[in-house]
Formats: sequence, C-alpha cells, structure tokens
Amino acid sequence: MSGLAAARELRAHGCTVTVLEGRKRTGGRVWTNHDLGFPIDMGANWIQGTDGNPLTQSADHSSVQVHQTDTESVRLWGPDGELVPDDDVEEAFEEFEDLAGALEEVAYELDSDETIAEHTVAILSRMLGEQVPDPVDGIVSRWASDPFAGGSYSFIPVGASPSDFDALAAPVGERLLFAGEATIKEYYATVHGAYLSGLREARRINRLTPR
Ligand SMILES: Cc1cc2nc3c(=O)[nH]c(=O)nc-3n(C[C@H](O)[C@H](O)[C@H](O)COP(=O)(O)OP(=O)(O)OC[C@H]3O[C@@H](n4cnc5c(N)ncnc54)[C@H](O)[C@@H]3O)c2cc1C
Repeated sequence: MSGLAAARELRAHGCTVTVLEGRKRTGGRVWTNHDLGFPIDMGANWIQGTDGNPLTQSADHSSVQVHQTDTESVRLWGPDGELVPDDDVEEAFEEFEDLAGALEEVAYELDSDETIAEHTVAILSRMLGEQVPDPVDGIVSRWASDPFAGGSYSFIPVGASPSDFDALAAPVGERLLFAGEATIKEYYATVHGAYLSGLREARRINRLTPR
C-alpha cells in the first residue's frame, strides 16, 4: 500500500516511477487469496476507523460494498446468505475469542498445515458443541516467517516507544526514504497508515527534487 501510494502520488506530479516488487504478486499485506476457488482475505480486510480515513473516501468512490461494525461487533452471514441474528453472533464470538487465544498458542509451535487444521476443527467443534466435518481444504497464513513481511504488523513491545516509528521514518541523506505502516506513529499497523506514509514520502521527494 505505502509503495503504491507513493508511486501514484509521484506520477500525479509528473515523475517517472519504477516499482520493484519482491513477491510474485502485488498487494503486500493486503491479499485476497483465491486458491480455494473463493476469496479469503489473508491480510487486512477492515477499514479501521471511518472518520477522516482516506480509505473510506476510496471505498465511497469505488463499487466496493462497505458494512459498518465497531470493535465489539461482527456481521455474519450464513451459508444461505441470511444475516445471522446479533445475539447468536455475540455468543459465538465470545467463545471464539477464548478459543482463538488457545489456537494462537498452539499454532506458534506447530509447523504443519494438517496439524493446525486438526486443532482448528477440534476448537470449532468445542465452540459449536458438535463435531464439525473435516475441512476439504485449507490455507494457513504465515506472515511471521514471510521474508517480505517479517510479521503481520508493527507494535510497541516493552522497551520500545512511539519515537521508534519516527526513527524508522527518518530519511538517509535525502536520498533513501522510508514509507510503510511501521514509519507512522499516529496510524501504525493499519492500511491507511501505510497509505498516508506513502503520500508523506512522495511529497518529501517532491520537495527535495528540483524542477
Ligand atoms: C492478518 C492481517 C490482518 C490485518 N488486518 C488489518 C485490517 O483489518 N485493517 C488495517 O487497516 N490493517 C490491517 N492489517 C495491517 C495492514 O495490512 C498493513 O499495515 C499494511 O498493509 C502495510 O502496508 P505497507 O505498505 O506498510 O507494507 P506491505 O503491505 O507489507 O507492502 C510492502 C511491499 O514491499 C514488498 N517487499 C518487501 N521486501 C521487499 C524487497 N526486499 N524487495 C522488493 N519488494 C519487497 C512486499 O512484497 C510488499 O508488496 C493487517 C495485517 C495482517 C497481516
């Protein structure tokens, strides 16, 4: 997101831009996987906060359908396409959060997709109170071991501070500039943070480049 935002902004200002992408796909940590024949978001899928968020504006200008939730609620559609009643969702979600924590603990230690699938089925069966069928297929995201991601998104661990984001954003010699969600302390860990950091660096390049 940050790289493409920077590229687009620079092009809009008449610069010639070359984007180098390390992976065989574009999108980075915004990735809708279609391997199973239907779309699954492996990374970001939620516009975090709508007021003043530039992504809300983009969604408004595109044909993307947007549904509003808050951090405490989710919308769930059943296989028949019917909206599941809020009370049912809430009950299942509370249990899911407990069990997802348990799954996260085991997932770190497991390296085979099959074993993770077995644990997931066991947890879902516990959560739903009945044995769920074995999955016909599955995909496992591995952002932490992905060399082009190095983890899902940045956070502030013990011993770090928000100023570390500024350090990561600092240019080197007016020649080497850095964008990305981990360079913007106000909105780190988000797509709109990545987007805004790309615009920031494009504008810095514009200021630095004599015309
Ligand atoms: C599971 C998950 C869920 C998330 N959910 C949300 C959400 O709901 N809402 C939200 O706002 N945010 C969410 N995020 C965070 C959001 O996805 C990221 O903050 C944002 O996409 C990061 O954008 P970026 O441009 O900084 O980095 P990236 O999207 O990682 O882009 C970096 C690009 O550089 C490429 N690259 C890396 N190294 C090299 C190299 N050496 N050479 C060439 N190319 C290279 C990468 O392949 C990639 O295309 C989520 C992330 C994950 C993983």
